[in-house]
Amino acid sequence: MPVRDTPLPTVLEPGGRTIGAEERAAVLRVLDSGVLCSTFGGEGRALEEEMAQLYGRQAAVACSSGTAALHLAVAAARIGPGDEVITTPISDFGTVGPVLAQGGRVVFADVRAEDGNLDPEAVEAAITPRTRAVIAVHLFGGAADTARLRQICDAHGLLLIEDCAQAWLGEDGDGRLLGTTGDIACFSLQQYKHITAGDGGLAITDDPELARRMRLFADKGWDRTEGRIHREPGLNYRITELAAAVARAQLGKVAEVVRVRRERAEQLAAALADLDGVTLPPRPDGHAWWLFPLLVDDNARWAKGLAAEGVPAMPGYLERPLYANPVFSGYPDGLCPQAERLIDRTLLVLPWNEAYTPDDVADIAEAIRRVHAA
Ligand SMILES: *Cc1c(COP(=O)(O)O)cnc(C)c1O
Repeated sequence: MPVRDTPLPTVLEPGGRTIGAEERAAVLRVLDSGVLCSTFGGEGRALEEEMAQLYGRQAAVACSSGTAALHLAVAAARIGPGDEVITTPISDFGTVGPVLAQGGRVVFADVRAEDGNLDPEAVEAAITPRTRAVIAVHLFGGAADTARLRQICDAHGLLLIEDCAQAWLGEDGDGRLLGTTGDIACFSLQQYKHITAGDGGLAITDDPELARRMRLFADKGWDRTEGRIHREPGLNYRITELAAAVARAQLGKVAEVVRVRRERAEQLAAALADLDGVTLPPRPDGHAWWLFPLLVDDNARWAKGLAAEGVPAMPGYLERPLYANPVFSGYPDGLCPQAERLIDRTLLVLPWNEAYTPDDVADIAEAIRRVHAA
């Protein structure tokens, strides 16, 4: 008998999302207003103000996806042909797609074996005269070493962009909110994230000039206070009023979502603390627990064993490091050995959800214990 005979709640069903009366009212409010485009309504602007307030930043720019938010950041950083941006090979493609779209070159630095986040020493070693920016991803909601990356970027005159798509309300070891150390931080509201509007994105910054450039890039380079004049390139990355209104309701719930995820993660960590050969995240305090990552000896075997117990798990998170995708060429196998080992061998990620009950977590722990014993 498997430990679980009923599936755990997932982000693809109502029970695994926090969508309720507030979001329903938000959608109807927008529909009834007749204004669905954020250029002419108040929801997009209100979302930006609420996001800036939540993070204590000067400005937030709302847009159509996390990838769009990263594109706003990279465009505002004036990344162009020949410019190099250093980032991690373990992330969503949305981290690197915008660099390619701007004609820039993605330089992959290796990660720390312990948590899959960028290794600051590898970042420093990858800097060349063409380097313009570093994009740090807080993988699964665990903090990248942004304090050290900030020092490195400052010493070399580079922009630091934080990709917080997986790290809503995560904190670093000093209790500082992830997304408040970089020049710009980017967030996603895609279906799988802590909170969702289906799709949507936000970029935050304290720099008014970066905010201005991001706003323009999201709206065809069109400064609407000036007439119909386009002084710089831009696309249409605007969020819709419908998505913005849903996002505002979701933003009001994100603190509770993260709080419960932390409580459940603490329970699982405590239940697994004595297991040899299963390594828990090294810095659980402040972790946002988008997913629950573990390090094991053979992630494929573990994923199979857990599936047989009715507990889903993803070996490696990705099938391959970003640079091993056909869209890239000229990046050899073995470029980032720690990242490759995590993906091929040691990293196992469990879906995580604020709808998990303590009993659900106890089942997950029991399934892990059984696979461990086998
Ligand atoms: C989801 C994600 C993105 C892209 O966000 P979308 O809203 O899907 O475009 C970028 N970076 C990371 C780390 C992500 O997890």
